[in-house]
Amino acid sequence: MKILVINTGSSSIKYKLFEMDSQRLLASGMAERIGESQSVLTYKVISEKNKEHVSEINATIHDHKHGLLRIVDLLADKTSGVIADKTDISAIGHRVVHGGEQFKHPILIDDTVIHAIRNHIPLAPLHNPSNLAGIEIARSIFPDSAQVAVFDTAFHQTIPTKAFLYAIPYNLYENKSIRRYGFHGTSHANVVDKFSAYVGMQSSELNLITIHLGNGSSMAAIKNGQCVDTTMGMTPLEGLVMGTRSGDVDPSIPFFLSRHLKMNWNDVETLLNKESGLKGICGTNDMREILQRRDAGDTLADIAVEVYCYRVKKYIGAYYAVLGRLDGIIFTAGIGENSPQIRELSCSGLGASMGISIDSKKNETHGNDIREIQSETSKIKIMVIPTDEELAIAQETKKIVDAFKSK
Ligand code: AMP
Repeated sequence: MKILVINTGSSSIKYKLFEMDSQRLLASGMAERIGESQSVLTYKVISEKNKEHVSEINATIHDHKHGLLRIVDLLADKTSGVIADKTDISAIGHRVVHGGEQFKHPILIDDTVIHAIRNHIPLAPLHNPSNLAGIEIARSIFPDSAQVAVFDTAFHQTIPTKAFLYAIPYNLYENKSIRRYGFHGTSHANVVDKFSAYVGMQSSELNLITIHLGNGSSMAAIKNGQCVDTTMGMTPLEGLVMGTRSGDVDPSIPFFLSRHLKMNWNDVETLLNKESGLKGICGTNDMREILQRRDAGDTLADIAVEVYCYRVKKYIGAYYAVLGRLDGIIFTAGIGENSPQIRELSCSGLGASMGISIDSKKNETHGNDIREIQSETSKIKIMVIPTDEELAIAQETKKIVDAFKSK
């Protein structure tokens, strides 16, 4: 069974095609700058021997439908394609950012689901409209394939009221759905599953802290396999310091910016989402560049790293307190998987108080494998586990399709 996973943004479509019987990635890529005169389409084919062939095509892609049709053409290309034609694709898995309180699990898409995703647009105005456009276009191009929505928020729906409710008038939760939802759910769930398979225990027996550090970053406290708290909030702006997002700030700062700098709300929203975080402090959101500059003695790069890791460390302490017993800490995503310095600084000084300590040598090893990096004296396992959100979406999609077929 072949499953196509798509993640539709406002001007992009990211895609991966999997052969589910062998769990093999067949092709991946991205259509970018859709609607601009110079769009870019990348296409990577992965051979059975894991050899990659990458091509980049500069083209004009008028709109998302045109983009997805171009992607299908590439996948079915006579010489470099990986499918005979579009009917080879049994199902499409869609990443949908916000499912609110309604969607606690992935779901087969029908008109009712589309209507519900549309109803959630006020909670995710930057993401749900393009996710929805991707679904509607895929349905028109693949009328006979199953379409499944996998929500970023779903895994966090087990968070109890005391952790999801903001202390603002209760009617704003009841009438306007203002509460913590949390995001990156597919990634947090994926690394919990991998940890539990690695240690050979049911996830329901495990208490974990999952730390997803990428351009967007979030942490989750997992008790008996279920999420009980997470750092992102009603939107992905809250919590950890991120590439360009501030994470936690005093809620009065926007009023200050408005009153004293005469900024309007759109400008404040852009400042906190696009001009803050690592970029706000030191001018770039690329952690590799920041670490190089820090090594070369750049003060602002050093401060950015310190602020970034301090926030992670603070939440490790908070979530340890929430969980009571802790079986493991998991680092994942671009920074979490690849940066020994960030992992080391984020756990520094936690040995004596919490029994959390990293082995510097193990921490320096690189690779795509799951690996343990705690020291011999550490009471808590500390692991680096690569996340694969798209494969997880494909697996969820297959489960839904199989369940539907067996009805
Ligand atoms: P993601 O959003 O998961 O793709 O992660 C993107 C972030 O990972 C960017 O800030 C990259 O600079 C960072 N990153 C990727 N590789 C490394 C590395 N080897 N060391 C430090 N940061 C890295």
